Amino acid sequence: MECELCGRNAHLVQAEIEGTVLSVCDTCSNLGKRAAISVELVDKRQSRMDFNTINSSFSKIIMNSRTKAGLSLEDLGKKINEKATVLDRVERGMRPTDELAKKLEKALKIKLLGYQEE
Ligand SMILES: [Zn+2]
Repeated sequence: MECELCGRNAHLVQAEIEGTVLSVCDTCSNLGKRAAISVELVDKRQSRMDFNTINSSFSKIIMNSRTKAGLSLEDLGKKINEKATVLDRVERGMRPTDELAKKLEKALKIKLLGYQEE
């Protein structure tokens, strides 16, 4: 697997970097808060324990509702106290942390997490 930050082929770990959860190599994980669990474990648990399921179209849902509300990435960022660059990454398909996803759900009145239970 390739590190999502530097593209190196290496053993990957899940790390929380600027509000998004990335699969990164050891070197890059030092940039963020390294999660205690390895990628393999997260896969096995089907993200039930540590992460809520997230609607796979989350980036589209976020972008659509944001533009419908007439908000720029900066506007939305200010509203939920997150960097616009983080939101930009999420809209490009980077999975947000549950915490960030919840903030987005509230701010945009959308549903992202736990969609399988419905
Ligand atoms: Zn890396």
